[in-house]
Amino acid sequence: MHPFTFQVGVLNCFSISDGQHTYPARAFFANAPAGELAAALSRHGLAAEMVTPFNCLLVDTGAQRLLIDTGIGRRGGPSADKLRQSLAAAGLTPENVDIVVLTHAHADHIGGALNTGGQPAFPNARYLLTRAEWDFWTAERPGVNDARRKQAQTALRLLENRLYLIESDGEIAPGVRALPAPGHTPGNIAVEIVSAGSRLIYIPDVFAHPIHLEQPGWNIMGEDDPLLAINTRRRLLEMLADTDTPVFGYHMPPPGLGRVIWQERAWAWQTVSPTM
Ligand SMILES: [Zn+2]
Repeated sequence: MHPFTFQVGVLNCFSISDGQHTYPARAFFANAPAGELAAALSRHGLAAEMVTPFNCLLVDTGAQRLLIDTGIGRRGGPSADKLRQSLAAAGLTPENVDIVVLTHAHADHIGGALNTGGQPAFPNARYLLTRAEWDFWTAERPGVNDARRKQAQTALRLLENRLYLIESDGEIAPGVRALPAPGHTPGNIAVEIVSAGSRLIYIPDVFAHPIHLEQPGWNIMGEDDPLLAINTRRRLLEMLADTDTPVFGYHMPPPGLGRVIWQERAWAWQTVSPTM
């Protein structure tokens, strides 16, 4: 298997797959009217279940290697937990990663952050997470201490002494910036990568399927603030549409690279080739 690679300016980027997992389609479009959802799924050739990929992005700046998100890990079953294998295909080991950016603390993004022994899976890396995300997940919220919160707390506590808390809007490394993308979770971030006049935007769970571009009002199940999530989705789609800015979508069709276009009075996802 050859890794999918591309350049942003002078930076080398690799799509590092953690594989995929099958979810009920409803989990991605919680508030969609049944008839409209069925029509959208059928237009995209989908049934009641959807195969969702986990495309992590590795950016090699020459000085540092950054990995953005870590996949779902073992929790994703046999079709997932491919991160280490995908790194190896790119000629890399976990030891080669200097910075791990966790866009938010859901299990399908931090699932590969720890190894089976509960140790940081990237032994030489500093892990970055927004302060808002840390505060949200580590706060005790009586009555909303669901399984997801417990999972996140366990993982974050195990990572705690490797974790550096960052602001939702600020520089991560030279040419790499966090962009606030709240709503899905309070501290969710997109990531902007700029080099030599080129730019790429990494998008986590702002849109989790191309259908979210057509229907930005459809919420992913369990979003912390559904209205804010919709506003963030619209704001980023407006920012990206028809700009030629390449976009790397964590849950977009593998290997994750595309553009946002405006066509027939709706936003749409357009897969792009690796030559930019
Ligand atoms: Zn996700």
